[in-house]
Amino acid sequence: MAEPLHDQPNKPPRRIPQPGDYENLSLATRAIHADDPINFNIDVAPPLHVSTTYRYKSDPSQLDPSRELELSDLHPPGGPMLGDGHIYSRLTAPNSSRLELMLTSILGQPVITYSSGLSAFHALLTWLHPKVVAIGEGYHGCHGVLAIYQKLTGCKIVDLFDEKSWDEAGLGKGDVVHLETPVNPTGIAYNVEAFAQAAHRRGAYLTVDATFAPPPLLDPFLWGADFVMHSGTKYFGGHSDMLCGVVGVGRQVEGWEKHYWGMYAERIYLGSVMGSMEGWLGVRSLRTFELRVKRQSENADQLVAFIAGALEGTSGTDDDGVEDVKKVVEKIEHASLQKEDMGWLKKQMPNGFGPVFSMWMKSEALARRLPSKLHLFHHATSLGGVESLVEWRKMSDPKVEGGLLRVSVGVESWEDLKADMINGCKQLVADGSL
Ligand SMILES: *Cc1c(COP(=O)(O)O)cnc(C)c1O
Repeated sequence: MAEPLHDQPNKPPRRIPQPGDYENLSLATRAIHADDPINFNIDVAPPLHVSTTYRYKSDPSQLDPSRELELSDLHPPGGPMLGDGHIYSRLTAPNSSRLELMLTSILGQPVITYSSGLSAFHALLTWLHPKVVAIGEGYHGCHGVLAIYQKLTGCKIVDLFDEKSWDEAGLGKGDVVHLETPVNPTGIAYNVEAFAQAAHRRGAYLTVDATFAPPPLLDPFLWGADFVMHSGTKYFGGHSDMLCGVVGVGRQVEGWEKHYWGMYAERIYLGSVMGSMEGWLGVRSLRTFELRVKRQSENADQLVAFIAGALEGTSGTDDDGVEDVKKVVEKIEHASLQKEDMGWLKKQMPNGFGPVFSMWMKSEALARRLPSKLHLFHHATSLGGVESLVEWRKMSDPKVEGGLLRVSVGVESWEDLKADMINGCKQLVADGSL
């Protein structure tokens, strides 16, 4: 006899994947198939589950109140959640659990998702509870989170690039060295290995915000990172339509399972879980993740090489417009231009240097006006989407220089983007707004 209808959707997976199942598959393939083992419906495209609450088992003899919140019974860290494991969507939910399974495969370490990148950073600080945090400039929002954490704990905040200040503040066991690379807004990359060594020498953790260079561009765990966070809003989402935060817990960290389940349990009370719609969008977006990130990074490398060449006078003069670019652009920064760092940088970022770069215009007025001259770059904040964006950065970070434009390169043809950029510079020159 068929099972009662109401038990059907709660059937366990056909087969529970084992560690190593996917290790030998490429990133591109894993982004399509890492969630196959829990795809036990006949749907090819993932279904969207909107319920906040889930039925308990129908057999009264199977109801076990004491085990209800034994999270580690539900799945291995980062592993597939059983279909009948969900209780309430502030704990776990089908769409975000599926996304976590995929992200675990993509990052190579167990992943927990959050409602945004900043809530992920907040959760990480809350869990690690450092007394001293070393941090560089980077994304201004992370400093906002850290200021709240400092308000509650009185922690000391020291300069990432001044190791003397770390020691003066007593940075040591259990404290946090937080590295953002490549860094927002410039796209300049830092040596993960060097910071890992400096942190570990003192017994501190290295946390890395690798939002600007997700796999396959950079794997900070390979170079000693203990925890890696991402604003999944950017490249994992990739379509400018969902907020998401990601924390990966390195299995090489002592007591990593305690860290994973500790953060998992705290998320229940922080309440900073992803929405079901966002979890669903995330799975959908990851299908094309590898294609997008590679294309975007390659596009950025090409555009940056052209603009840098125009400034240095090495881009071919047959490139109409090189002179106009030179008249309005002062300088450009991107990891691909860090010639003196290529020794370690090529090893850490073998597949490209990230899709975001920054340009300084010759005046603040030019930076304010260039976005209005471009047709293929939306003038908007954020990054990581398939559409190219440019932002007069002063719009969202009042502390930066007025001439700064941040560019997030999308998946368009880079030749079209280059032509648009040249045309924009040409119009600035023609306008006489120099
Ligand atoms: C956008 C961003 C964040 C914040 O992420 P949200 O998803 O907007 O909360 C954190 N770090 C970096 C480097 C970012 O670019």
